[in-house]
Amino acid sequence: MFDALIIGGGVSSVSCALILGSACKKTFAEHKKIGIIAHQKASSLQNAVFNNAYGVSKGKLGSELLIETTEQLKELYPHVEQIEDEKVLRIVKQTSAFLIETNKKKYTSKIVVIGIGAGNPFTIEGLENYIIPHKKAATEKNRIQLKNEDHLVDEGIYAIGVLAGHRSQLSIAAGSGASAATDILTIWNDGKPVQVHDAVNK
Ligand SMILES: Cc1cc2nc3c(=O)[nH]c(=O)nc-3n(C[C@H](O)[C@H](O)[C@H](O)COP(=O)(O)OP(=O)(O)OC[C@H]3O[C@@H](n4cnc5c(N)ncnc54)[C@H](O)[C@@H]3O)c2cc1C
Repeated sequence: MFDALIIGGGVSSVSCALILGSACKKTFAEHKKIGIIAHQKASSLQNAVFNNAYGVSKGKLGSELLIETTEQLKELYPHVEQIEDEKVLRIVKQTSAFLIETNKKKYTSKIVVIGIGAGNPFTIEGLENYIIPHKKAATEKNRIQLKNEDHLVDEGIYAIGVLAGHRSQLSIAAGSGASAATDILTIWNDGKPVQVHDAVNK
């Protein structure tokens, strides 16, 4: 049973995983089981090149970021389980958790964070009630989002990145995943606000 399972291996999802992973030294998070279904084939990053994303060096290829960010996650926060080569097909709400079915396995998690982009049709069964037209994408693109309030779709379900209704920019998607992660950490910390900072030793 995961405490939090992130679905997607693109910008918002890996950003969320990095922040959740980075809280490992905090008492309230040290025993939490965190996972990410790091499917990357359908990421917007595959064909992108970046010149306008804060902190990303000019000309950076999205295909490089896909590799480097999951390697960074593995190196710094190996306790975050990375599940590769699996695609989520269905999410089923159970009494106190969610059942997440992929094309290969089944997982359970208390919290699910979904960052699979705004493609239409939505490829995960079980969340139909939350799908609405994307509020910030051009109508002719026919994108969708999940209805949410500050990323919270329903108890235990978060949408992040463009799926949360944000415009498609790397910095926005990364910030969205980070924002949801700090909200989850705050819940784990009994409602006391959390941020995770590293500082240069003095
Ligand atoms: C060609 C192109 C150029 C771009 N250029 C720029 C730019 O110059 N500057 C800028 O700021 N932004 C740019 N963007 C936008 C930026 O890449 C996106 O805004 C950002 O990637 C969105 O992040 P996300 O996490 O919402 O989605 P993504 O990064 O697309 O991640 C979604 C992830 O979900 C996975 N997934 C999908 N379905 C499933 C499933 N059923 N189960 C599990 N995983 C699944 C995908 O494989 C993917 O890894 C560009 C986008 C494109 C397409």
